[in-house]
Amino acid sequence: MTTQHPEGSQQPAVSLRPALRSLPPYKPGKSAAGSDVLQYKLSSNENPYPPLPSVLDAVNQMSPEMNLYPDMTCRAVTEAVAARWDVAPSSVSFGSGSVEVASQIIRSVCDEGDEVVFAWRSFEAYPILAGLAGATAVKVPLTEDERHDLPAMAAAITERTKVVLVCTPNNPTGTSVTADELHAFMAQVPSNVLVVVDEAYVHFNVAPDAARGIDFFHEYPNVVVLHTFSKAYGLAGLRIGYAIAPEYISAALRAVAIPFGVTNLAQQAALASLAAETEIEERITALIEQRDHVHQQLLAQGWELPESQANFVWLRTGAQTVQAEETLSRHGVIARAFPDEGIRVSIGSPAANQAFLVAAQDALETLRAASSSRIGG
Ligand SMILES: *Cc1c(COP(=O)(O)O)cnc(C)c1O
Repeated sequence: MTTQHPEGSQQPAVSLRPALRSLPPYKPGKSAAGSDVLQYKLSSNENPYPPLPSVLDAVNQMSPEMNLYPDMTCRAVTEAVAARWDVAPSSVSFGSGSVEVASQIIRSVCDEGDEVVFAWRSFEAYPILAGLAGATAVKVPLTEDERHDLPAMAAAITERTKVVLVCTPNNPTGTSVTADELHAFMAQVPSNVLVVVDEAYVHFNVAPDAARGIDFFHEYPNVVVLHTFSKAYGLAGLRIGYAIAPEYISAALRAVAIPFGVTNLAQQAALASLAAETEIEERITALIEQRDHVHQQLLAQGWELPESQANFVWLRTGAQTVQAEETLSRHGVIARAFPDEGIRVSIGSPAANQAFLVAAQDALETLRAASSSRIGG
């Protein structure tokens, strides 16, 4: 096959990998721009708080060294994370965001045609990471109540399955997997299949029966835990996340990592954040209170929604998703809409959350009017 060269020459063009053709594009949350209404960006699960002064200080102290490559081994922050979770430093490895770490895992473990099993809908990066590695994404539908269907996920494991991704709390539905459920699941999973517990939102999870990835890491030889500094720690713009994994896996992740992928600014900011856990905890507590307030108010308005253990809420608006998104947007609320499925709205500042609640009331009325006119003819 000769493909037209982009410049119009008749020379054959470079052929791109077939895997790229079927990749779903990653859609970042929409930004707030170009409107005279005050805009609230609640589309990317970002932390609404500005950086802590101590974190800014740490970054500023490091910035005169930006002509130098960072510490590729992430030594200091590796030790801090290892101490924080009481694991060996050799079990900790970093990436430029935990998305990159997830990619390292799939690229370390999967060959062309191998399978990666995950719940769907879940984090939209998963099918992209699997596809890029040439692996096959196996999507197991969530239950009616928006939770991981772990028995169905266990049943979806075949001889080609190399990785199972368990996102808890789940992005975008906010639901969390219980410890009992995950133990029952692990009993079904062959020990040569790697189970990745993606805990990007774990700090917001107050469910007493929730699975804690670290406990599973200690108990099973085939569990990796993914954490990020992007959400609860508010460092999304600096790009740093990590895996806690069996040592031989950590070594593989370091081997496939982009060299110098984690900047010294990110490493220092993460270190300073770990040293400021009390202040971070206060912010997390306030965000959880706001989330529960938003949840209660939505219920009072008449919405049905799952309990969220993350820093966002999920409205299953189905066929009316685009319409609901437009209503929110008219109120200046930018949310993440998945057409025909639902809308994810991040918990922001109290003012942003209030604007969302007003918008949600309006959206519910619009949806009800639309569905009653459809039903009533
Ligand atoms: C946000 C998020 C991540 C991490 O993102 P990074 O910014 O790359 O650390 C990982 N998993 C899920 C499910 C997320 O929502």
